Amino acid sequence: MSKVVVLGAGIMGLAAAHRALTLGHEVTLLEAASEPGGMAAHFDFDGLSIERFYHFVCKSDTPTFDLLAELGMDDAMRWRSTSMGYFVEGALHKWGDPFALLRFPHLNLVDKFRYGLLMFISTRRDAWPALEDVNTRAWIEAWCGKTVYAKLWKRLLDLKFHEYADDISAQWTWARIRRVGRSRKSLLQEELGYIEGGSQTLVDALTTSITKSGGAVKLREPAARVLISDGKVIGVRTPNGDYPADAVVSTVPTPLLGSLLAEAPDGLRTRYEAIQNIGVVCVVLKLRRSVTPHFWVNIVDPALPILGIIEFTNLRQAPTGETVVYVPYYMPLQNPAWRRTNDDFVDEVLEAIRAINPAVQRGDVIATYVGRLKHAQPVCPPGFKALLPPVQTEVCGLQIADTCFYYPEDRGVAESIRLGRDMAAHLSA
Ligand SMILES: Cc1cc2nc3c(=O)[nH]c(=O)nc-3n(C[C@H](O)[C@H](O)[C@H](O)COP(=O)(O)OP(=O)(O)OC[C@H]3O[C@@H](n4cnc5c(N)ncnc54)[C@H](O)[C@@H]3O)c2cc1C
Repeated sequence: MSKVVVLGAGIMGLAAAHRALTLGHEVTLLEAASEPGGMAAHFDFDGLSIERFYHFVCKSDTPTFDLLAELGMDDAMRWRSTSMGYFVEGALHKWGDPFALLRFPHLNLVDKFRYGLLMFISTRRDAWPALEDVNTRAWIEAWCGKTVYAKLWKRLLDLKFHEYADDISAQWTWARIRRVGRSRKSLLQEELGYIEGGSQTLVDALTTSITKSGGAVKLREPAARVLISDGKVIGVRTPNGDYPADAVVSTVPTPLLGSLLAEAPDGLRTRYEAIQNIGVVCVVLKLRRSVTPHFWVNIVDPALPILGIIEFTNLRQAPTGETVVYVPYYMPLQNPAWRRTNDDFVDEVLEAIRAINPAVQRGDVIATYVGRLKHAQPVCPPGFKALLPPVQTEVCGLQIADTCFYYPEDRGVAESIRLGRDMAAHLSA
């Protein structure tokens, strides 16, 4: 049995700690924030407990279902038929099935066929290693042509990744398409899921199980340094003291590792520093009126500065019947827009929503919230796999991962669970 310190009580850290305890280790979990859950945590939105950032589950999220079963919660999943829209040049179109594609007015028949074929193949393939060194733009243009890229994709990637837009791995984009594309009841019907009560249900169940099994969950206890001696980890220092350890599992976002790894070899730190991340400003509105019937609407309209709206209550209804809409603004932190005020973002989102559905009035707004996260999305360029250091580092007993370590999969609860559990399993090895 080892003395294990896990850094970060997001989903990955919680899953690692939970598994390590099951395997008989002594576990302490250190979390910088005042509550567990990380990106998956809820907040009190005017009396409604809901995720700070929208969270949906796909049918391929097996690690989530396995963990729920282990926690005795196999009945916690709820599934709902959902739909998608594309708002293009002032009009909303249904999207996401072959008939919607045929009716879409902005592409000719050949382009529609090429696009449909790429989506079909992307959903069917289990691996696509040839995409590792290709960027998304080149991949889409090669399969579907320049018009499809320009009309459907360019603005979405520009608004999400800004200066990195032309340098996003095609393998990463393919894995995203595949995950959502496989979450269907039939060719014509998308089906997405949620955990009853939201992702906080899972966070709470893990935290309770960890403490019940004798693990310690220390909140407001940021790790400041991993202590290393003779190439082996010996503990973790926080502002409140030292935690001796035989093994350390870090799930802290890699951009925050710099000072934590002051005692690690220089070469290791440099590899984490090479990984880029962008932030997100996420506007959440509670409204008296629905905006569209769709869960997700992509927006490709030069007049609108947002890339999409997620009408979350078209997946999980609010008990009191209101509409909740999320609008994410992703951007590198050096983007001047990061410094805009929350009110600025809310006003802009309301204008955009009124352009999509003019029936929505300012008086329909019941509550607003703006969540900000500095390290929200890893940027994965072509060849990203080779950039990643091994999870089991050259320092004996030290494992390090965050959401980019399950590339080509995008960040997601299921993959964070899988990797957290894998790291715990490696403790015994
Ligand atoms: C806008 C948005 C939308 C998303 N939508 C979905 C979705 O629909 N479906 C889905 O499955 N996933 C979604 N995700 C992704 C999902 O939330 C993440 O993949 C998952 O929660 C990551 O968990 P993690 O533990 O790996 O990382 P994190 O949640 O980042 O956890 C890291 C933890 O480390 C802590 N920490 C930082 N510094 C220190 C320190 N020095 N010492 C100790 N602790 C520290 C942090 O406070 C945090 O709690 C979304 C994420 C975002 C941002």
